[in-house]
Amino acid sequence: MKDSSFTDKLALLGGSKTINRPFKRYNPIGVEEVAAATKVVESGILSKFLGCWDTDFYGGPKVQEFERACESYFGVKHAITVNSWTSGLIAAVGAIGIEPGDEVIVSPWTMCASATAILHWNAIPVFADIEPETFNLDPKSVEANISPYTKAIIVPDIFGHPADMDSLMEIATRYDLKVISDTAQAPGAYYKDKYAGTIAHVGGYSLNYHKHIHTGEGGIIVTNDDDIAERLQLIRNHAEAVVGDKGTKNLVNMIGYNFRLGEIECAIGIEQLKKLKSLVTTRQRAAERLSEGLQGLEGLQTPIVKPGCTHAYYVYSMVLDVDRLGVSRDKIYSALVAEGVEGLTPGYANLHLLPMYQKKIAYGSQGFPWTSDICRRDINYNKGICPIAEELHEKKYLGYEMCLHDLSNDDLDLILSAFYKVWENLELLR
Ligand SMILES: *Cc1c(COP(=O)(O)O)cnc(C)c1O
Repeated sequence: MKDSSFTDKLALLGGSKTINRPFKRYNPIGVEEVAAATKVVESGILSKFLGCWDTDFYGGPKVQEFERACESYFGVKHAITVNSWTSGLIAAVGAIGIEPGDEVIVSPWTMCASATAILHWNAIPVFADIEPETFNLDPKSVEANISPYTKAIIVPDIFGHPADMDSLMEIATRYDLKVISDTAQAPGAYYKDKYAGTIAHVGGYSLNYHKHIHTGEGGIIVTNDDDIAERLQLIRNHAEAVVGDKGTKNLVNMIGYNFRLGEIECAIGIEQLKKLKSLVTTRQRAAERLSEGLQGLEGLQTPIVKPGCTHAYYVYSMVLDVDRLGVSRDKIYSALVAEGVEGLTPGYANLHLLPMYQKKIAYGSQGFPWTSDICRRDINYNKGICPIAEELHEKKYLGYEMCLHDLSNDDLDLILSAFYKVWENLELLR
């Protein structure tokens, strides 16, 4: 795979770029989705939801069909569609009965909505540190962050690799906590013999256009718990107007929203779901080609796949041994970007460092909920609370967003050539 570009001058230092053409944008939408969406448009029924206790409370034919298809695909008792996975996370936190001031442990390495879903119910996000291998919540740090007020854990399966569910569910059982899986980035990944997202009390997937399968915007919530499923459906569709006629006894968090997904999206979702397995396999083959090619590079750790797990590769995650390399991550990142590699990210979220948490300004200007009586202790969001996440973000982590492009072998080999060229010239970056 090595070629003459090896000896070329780095683009960062004025040489020519390794990659001079754009890669094809990822687009899993095909003729099947066009036909399915067209049929719905022709039917004239673009949604059928009614926000009252009625047979249409559960939505129209495509909503029903997509939800039943998701249940059989993911092997769960209930699948509930929503207009985004952000909505799904909010509904999930409400449905498990979180009270104002309850603490919910979450990872700093996730999309911001995993943590704001907690704040939406006036509950308090508490950030635990991550494992350096998978970037998922470290069960030891989760346990160390449990307080008398902890009620739940939100567990992302970040970048496509499932979190350590056995350990996390064991901790949850021991402390009587509920677990919500945020599997937006890992649909179709396996944890042992189950799909990621289906092991927690509630889990789910995003259908936004960056994700493996999509409907433009949308989300799927999954659960095996009948009671949680009912409450999710109520929160999705104006709970407060429905509970009376429906005879719902438990009124906790029955503040409803309009989180309903449309018929067109669900018709597209039905077709997308049929393609999920092959889309994930394609991504895995591409990642394997990258890992084989990058294996020999000094000081570069390719993504790790833990025994019993499969990786869905939303992001191809690398860690640099910067001490050994004697070059900063940011320099290597800049050199690779200059070679034309698109989709690299130096570091990741570190949510606890967002201004909202640093300044504790969320609802209004007075520091609610942290300054309110409902918050029963001082919550620490200072730099230093998640040392592994912070060091990876600042110095060592380099992500490659595989979700952006439909990568051919030629594309992958060009990416490899860019890495080889940079590694061959490390001395010049020192
Ligand atoms: C995409 C994503 C979400 C949010 O999903 P939307 O459907 O865009 O609302 C939440 N969590 C993670 C980890 C994500 O990647």
